[in-house]
Amino acid sequence: MLMTHTGIELPQGFLNAMNTASGFVPRLVVKALITVFASVAIGSTPDAISQTVAVRLGQLVTGRGAVIQDAVVIIEKERITAVGSGAAAVPADARLIDLRPLTGVPGMIDAHTHMTFYWDKASGSKPWTQLGTLNSAVTVFLAQENARKTLESGVTTVRDLGSWDGNDIAMRDLIERRAMVGPRMFVAGCGLSITSEPFRPGATKPQPCRADGVAEVERAARQQLADGADWIKMYGSTGSDQDVTGFETFSYEEMKAATEVAHRAGKRIAIHSYGPEGARDAVKAGADSVEHAIDIDDATFTEMVKRGTVYVPTVDHNRYYIDHNEEFGYDQAVVGRLNSYILKNVETLRRAVKFHVRIAMGSDAVFTGFGENTGDLSWFVQAGMTPAQALDSATNVGAELLGKSKELGFVGPGAFADLVAIDGDPLKDIAAVLKVKWVMKGGTVVVDKR
Ligand SMILES: [Zn+2]
Repeated sequence: MLMTHTGIELPQGFLNAMNTASGFVPRLVVKALITVFASVAIGSTPDAISQTVAVRLGQLVTGRGAVIQDAVVIIEKERITAVGSGAAAVPADARLIDLRPLTGVPGMIDAHTHMTFYWDKASGSKPWTQLGTLNSAVTVFLAQENARKTLESGVTTVRDLGSWDGNDIAMRDLIERRAMVGPRMFVAGCGLSITSEPFRPGATKPQPCRADGVAEVERAARQQLADGADWIKMYGSTGSDQDVTGFETFSYEEMKAATEVAHRAGKRIAIHSYGPEGARDAVKAGADSVEHAIDIDDATFTEMVKRGTVYVPTVDHNRYYIDHNEEFGYDQAVVGRLNSYILKNVETLRRAVKFHVRIAMGSDAVFTGFGENTGDLSWFVQAGMTPAQALDSATNVGAELLGKSKELGFVGPGAFADLVAIDGDPLKDIAAVLKVKWVMKGGTVVVDKR
């Protein structure tokens, strides 16, 4: 099976023609043929010939509590229609994709990304200073690399929490209409922030998400929904990249106003807080998820359990900044602060696990961090989750958070055909999820590293 640069799977007939052709047709022409075919394939519906596909796996972790040996997943177009076991479960007319002995898991959900934060590594530039300086169309085009790396990590759906100039909305729509290869995106537009803490990209331009006071918050939140956002994102405290302070920014009243705007429209809201005060007010205000926070108090955890508020701890993104400190220009003092934040983050996570707070995997991936989207799962196990619970945070919990638990986060009838084949048993060692060999999203093979 051949994958093009865009990740499109080419049919066998085309490959045979290519093999014959490559004997005498110059390499460049073959390459051009692939490009032409890929652009045609991108615009077409998945498996346009409507052939039933059967994927056979050594074992399958369904995401609904079952583990099936010698599993067979039956796919029609974009959806899974049945799951069975053994040769008898493979329909006679199906196109078989035999992935044995690999293990299948549901396509994973990264509940916190910034897909449009792209850095081209141009000499002399730093990621944060380049951000927002490129034209929007250029940004969206280049960010395809982030989308591809995300798919390669086994993530087929993301909740993207903050962009600018509608770049995330454009990307979501391009992927949805199959003009771009990437994970399914649920996006927030720009994140609401107070005047004194402007969100970085394009800080010199008018900031539609800068808001002070209830009326401005309502206006900014409504504007994002009008522009096509699926979620509202609110920066409820200071803290981002090298800054690990967590001073509350928006008031409880402002958080409540934004939450009500989202909920009245049938949408949801994620509130960012590095510190415990912002987290407490976010939960009281009815936020659907709280991002990052450390030192969350017991009463807030109790309230989160009662309300079903999801905690997205994003531990691993600070590890990423530390590993890439030179790229970012962070000195040892910054590294020290990031390290102490990680310790508190893990401790807070450990307490959240004990309280049975719902926890979703979110990478907070930016720039070169894509491809490491599932890094939090090892931290989750380290903080007391079983590997099964950790995998749940990247499948079921993410799907519930998005309000899509009937079609995402599991392998079973009715679900999107989002399937990842990995090398090893993730229920024994969660690190197996890092060994992604093959990924299908919505019935289309998007990664094949076998
Ligand atoms: Zn973020």
